[in-house]
Amino acid sequence: MATETDIPTRTPEQLQALAEQANQDLENASAQEIMRWAAETFGRRFAVTSSMEDAVVAHLASTALPGVDVIFLDTGYHFPETLGTRDAVAEVYPVNVITLTPRQTVAEQDAEYGPRLHDRDPDLCCSLRKVEPLNRGLAGYDAWATGLRRDESPTRANTPIVGYDAKRQKVKIAPIARWTQDDVDAYVAEHGILLNLLLSDGYASIGCSPESCTRRILAGEDARSGRWSGAGKTECGIHL
Ligand code: SF4
Repeated sequence: MATETDIPTRTPEQLQALAEQANQDLENASAQEIMRWAAETFGRRFAVTSSMEDAVVAHLASTALPGVDVIFLDTGYHFPETLGTRDAVAEVYPVNVITLTPRQTVAEQDAEYGPRLHDRDPDLCCSLRKVEPLNRGLAGYDAWATGLRRDESPTRANTPIVGYDAKRQKVKIAPIARWTQDDVDAYVAEHGILLNLLLSDGYASIGCSPESCTRRILAGEDARSGRWSGAGKTECGIHL
């Protein structure tokens, strides 16, 4: 693997060109191969983000780059099970979990915008509590990986394996984009991957705990249907 001193400083234009070439080269690569490419190409300038729904992507990254930074956005609204998963991941895997927090506590946000902003303006709430902290947290990296999968919802069906995140000027990698839920289940079983306990309690996609943000899904619904149900919102804004 390339050492830290081997990793060149790249301009946004170079990162974009690199992403476009890699997307062609890696479309049919395995998740492990994609993670190895990311580790060798970006070294410590690569991080993964995790919602702590499961530890699949954190585990994949740790096998390619032990000690890899795993970014978790603590919105102040998480289920206890999600925070427990975060703590277990930090304990069990060779990763460096970094918890990012919004500029305002929930109480400070309530004082400025009124209580339960998530019910009245979830886009603004997500912008304040997820998007801004992530933008700040990714400043020191050239590339980040997510657990996005094409089969999760129609809005994620065209997720590239490697894309260029023009807004943040980062390479954005989705190593399990081609995986199905069966692939995830098989990887979890083979490696004994840590899972959020809510996955066995009817939740398929786990975000913040207010009912307006995360609910259990019904039979036949896609995995993302329980997020901001009825609000006409499907993404928090991180992936837009
Ligand atoms: Fe706010 Fe809900 Fe978004 Fe969490 S998911 S940041 S509570 S709107």
